[in-house]
Amino acid sequence: MKVATPKETTADEHRVALVPDTATRLKAAGLDVGVEAGAGAAAYISDEAYQQAGVEVVKGAGQLLQDADAVLKVQAPSVPEVDLLRSGAVLISFLQPATQGDAVRALAKRGVTAFSLELLPRISRAQSMDALSSQASAAGYKAVLMAAGRLGKFFPMMMTAAGTVAPARVLVMGAGVAGLQAIATARRLGAVVSAYDVRPAVKEEVQSLGATFIELPLETQEGEGGYAREQSEEFLRKQRELIGEHVARSDVVITTAAVPGRHAPLLVTADMVQGMRPGSVIVDLAAETGGNVELTKAGADVEIGGVTVIGTRNVPSTMPLHASQLYARNVANLLLHLVKDKAITLDFADEITKGCCVTHEGEIVNERAKQLVAPKP
Ligand code: NAD
Repeated sequence: MKVATPKETTADEHRVALVPDTATRLKAAGLDVGVEAGAGAAAYISDEAYQQAGVEVVKGAGQLLQDADAVLKVQAPSVPEVDLLRSGAVLISFLQPATQGDAVRALAKRGVTAFSLELLPRISRAQSMDALSSQASAAGYKAVLMAAGRLGKFFPMMMTAAGTVAPARVLVMGAGVAGLQAIATARRLGAVVSAYDVRPAVKEEVQSLGATFIELPLETQEGEGGYAREQSEEFLRKQRELIGEHVARSDVVITTAAVPGRHAPLLVTADMVQGMRPGSVIVDLAAETGGNVELTKAGADVEIGGVTVIGTRNVPSTMPLHASQLYARNVANLLLHLVKDKAITLDFADEITKGCCVTHEGEIVNERAKQLVAPKP
């Protein structure tokens, strides 16, 4: 069985879905592994490093993809890339069915069995395959460093001969995987951190990281599987009113709030940004799904009244080495879950296999993906 990883073709994608370490594991399981020459270059992994791990390095993606039984990628393939895949081949990547409808339809038409990591069930058994979590950790960590790099202040309290400097105040909104990592990183840098989430269940986790959990007098609603539910507009309006003073007091605000499959909730209005001190910094990790901050521009930084709102897209790709290492492990674990005796063996009674399979034998088999890619009437 041949496993292939092409070079990512999406602009500014620096990650790669296979690293030498995971290639060694796949080879130990009896699989043949190939990469396109230069596939790891943007993540600082040379062709030689792959060769040393016994990986065949192939020039160009064409033949590599045509020969592959399983293709490992980060981003959804383009339609021309899909056209290179064999019918019956397996693809594992982030597929983003909501925005990549053409690719998903093309994968179905081509007879590819495609697995989307966004749809992986978040159950304990699948934790080692959970790429959303590994990449969210990278994003949460980097968000704090981006903010620290922009802030004209120290994060820690400094006692110097020239006087004492107060620590920076950081507010993290949304304390899921990215938010908790942001809290931990800001604490390590010495900031005073507070955090807010609609799910009261995260209070203890926030406190165990040394941050204050902000409790708002609002009736919160938790959704299924530990996720947030989409809140009503009235709830969000009250939430903004109550959180306003906390935002105004902060030097740095990091927003990470998301509701799976939905537009990001608006947590910080333009007025709230204008209420912050000049020099303050906001990093909106939800920029790509509509933004938690009214002024966010996805892929750009905006400055209003001296406050910078950072809307960088694809933050995990800005730290490609470790993001790739973790992602590649997630992908290899999922692939090995699908392999028995050196061949793909699909068991659709299995919650993991069924949960994240999007296309199979010419059909879009996932109900959620089917709705997302349906042509608009
Ligand atoms: P996410 O990216 O969907 O959302 C990030 C955070 O934003 C969540 O904590 C959510 O509650 C919060 N949020 C949503 N709307 C908000 C609002 N209006 N105001 C404030 N906060 C809001 O979530 P995630 O980080 O991917 O994961 C969330 C949870 O899923 C985790 O904390 C955990 O409980 C669970 N999880 C389980 C597993 C597993 O069991 N394998 C793996 C990962 C995550």
